[in-house]
Amino acid sequence: MVALLVLPSTFAAGKEEKIKQTLNSAPISAVSDQTVGEQKEKVLPSPKVSEKIVFKMPTSGKVTTPFGYQTHQKILHDGIDIVNKEGTDVYAAAAGKVIKAEYDPDNGFTIVIEHNENWRTEYRHFANAKMPVIKGEMVKSGDLIGHMGSTGQATGPHLHFSILMDGEYIDPVSMLK
Ligand SMILES: [Zn+2]
Repeated sequence: MVALLVLPSTFAAGKEEKIKQTLNSAPISAVSDQTVGEQKEKVLPSPKVSEKIVFKMPTSGKVTTPFGYQTHQKILHDGIDIVNKEGTDVYAAAAGKVIKAEYDPDNGFTIVIEHNENWRTEYRHFANAKMPVIKGEMVKSGDLIGHMGSTGQATGPHLHFSILMDGEYIDPVSMLK
C-alpha cells in the first residue's frame, strides 16, 4: 500500500515561500483591485433551468390538428400537425443534440432532438430525400433538419411536431414563442 503523507510543515513552508516571491515581484498596483473585489457566488444550475429554453415554430404552415384527444380518435395526438407543401423546410425548434434520425412505419422519417436532460422535441413524416442531419449531430436553434413530407402514416405532407418535458408530451403551442 502506498501511503500518501501530508507534511504540514513542508507544505506551509512552500506556501510562505510563494507568498514571499509574490510580494517581492508583484508591483503594488497589481495587488489592489483583484484582492478587494468580491467574488460572485456561483449560481448552481436549477433543474427547471430548462423552462428558459425558447422553442420556435419549426416550420411555416397551418396548424390543422392541435395537441390533445381528437373527437374521432381515442389516442392522444401528442403534438401538433403543421401543413404546408411537400419539401417545406423544417428547422430545429431549439439547440440540442440529434438523438434519433430514422424511419419507422408509423412516424415515417423522424428526428428527435434532446435539448437537455428535461426537454426533447420530435419531428415526424419528413420527406425521405435529403435528410440534412444525422444521429449524434449538434444543432443550433433554426438549423435546417429536414423537409416536410408524408412518410409513415400520413394522409398528406405535414410536420408532426411534439415537445416532451421529462418524458411527457405537452402541448407545443404552450411553449412556442
Ligand atoms: Zn400528428
